[in-house]
Amino acid sequence: MNRLCPICTSGEKVFLYNQNFHNNVIALMEKYDVVACKICGLVYADNIPSQTEFNDYYAAISRYEFTHNDGIVSKSYINHTRGIVDFLAPHVSNKKARILDIGCSTGCLLSLLKERGYTNLIGMDPSPSCVETVKQRYGIEAIASTISALETTEHFDVIILSAVLEHLVDLNSSTRKVASMLKPDGLLFLEIPDAERFFTHIFTPFQQFSIEHINYFTQHSVAYLLSKCSFKIIEMRKGANRGNQTIDPNLFIVSKKSKMSDIPIMRDNAGEISIRKYIAQCSKIDWEMKHHLREKLSKEDKVIVWGVGTNTQRLLGDGLELSKVLYFVDSNINYAGKKLHGLAVKLPGEIRESNPILILTYSYQEEVIHQIRANLKLGNEILTIYKRAAL
Ligand SMILES: [Zn+2]
Repeated sequence: MNRLCPICTSGEKVFLYNQNFHNNVIALMEKYDVVACKICGLVYADNIPSQTEFNDYYAAISRYEFTHNDGIVSKSYINHTRGIVDFLAPHVSNKKARILDIGCSTGCLLSLLKERGYTNLIGMDPSPSCVETVKQRYGIEAIASTISALETTEHFDVIILSAVLEHLVDLNSSTRKVASMLKPDGLLFLEIPDAERFFTHIFTPFQQFSIEHINYFTQHSVAYLLSKCSFKIIEMRKGANRGNQTIDPNLFIVSKKSKMSDIPIMRDNAGEISIRKYIAQCSKIDWEMKHHLREKLSKEDKVIVWGVGTNTQRLLGDGLELSKVLYFVDSNINYAGKKLHGLAVKLPGEIRESNPILILTYSYQEEVIHQIRANLKLGNEILTIYKRAAL
């Protein structure tokens, strides 16, 4: 789908990069273009599927259901989420405020708000199993829905969109709908990745251009979006990612619903400049990483590849030769029994061979190593290509 700028709706754009995920049965799309809007400067993914197709994808895959292990999240993720509560709480003095967390996943943020004394909480997530986890694990009300499908007459004091806006195809209409669900003077909290700092946090090349992240905001572009939807920014802060490589450099924003009119468009050049810098650095690191991988694999006969996500798909045929792969392994039950380029995708418990295991899932590398050694008790040699995180 040829996409108009999701903020200013202009069709004029500058091409920056083609992100290729390599076609297979699991991916939602084969590739997309990263472009910058010529009018407002927003950098976004172009030639992508529709919002409906994304919704179906999220419903089917429900990544967080398995990666977060029944609602059990990592310590560093809890710390990060606690940072959100610390930022938000001073703005919400009424502990009975009706707070809606859209895209609540398995309820980490809601549970921390509950811990902080907030009593009137509700979560919403497209994944029914995440919603069940929120209800059962924390006893917090939750509904399974997407923003566009939600039918409610209720008005909220606070709406939270943490790690949501970067996923939305229909950014304008969703943000307007969220605005309509707030009481007058209601607060909107946003957490979004900060595209101006992508180039300072490269752990694996092009990870920011994922299948799921399709809008790349700067302070300027998010301010412009908020003003178009009649929000006035109360506080904006650059979030520290506290050394956790699975958490993007991000922006925390609290804004208030108001009757102000749109600020005029002034092109934000920072987005395009920072993304170009990010692309250049990623290309360099990518080349080095593929070289390193080829060298490693030249000494091996066949390896078991752990992870069928974006990184694996990107490396297939370019650093990772299919002839070197015995089969793939992924903990996501939704992938089990599927095939990737004609090779089986198995569950971790199905590993019987003693071939080396090459870990290509970057976000969960440490967890996978732990799983292989401690849970599965496998002695296979482990090959990694990403920097080992200091835990
Ligand atoms: Zn634009």
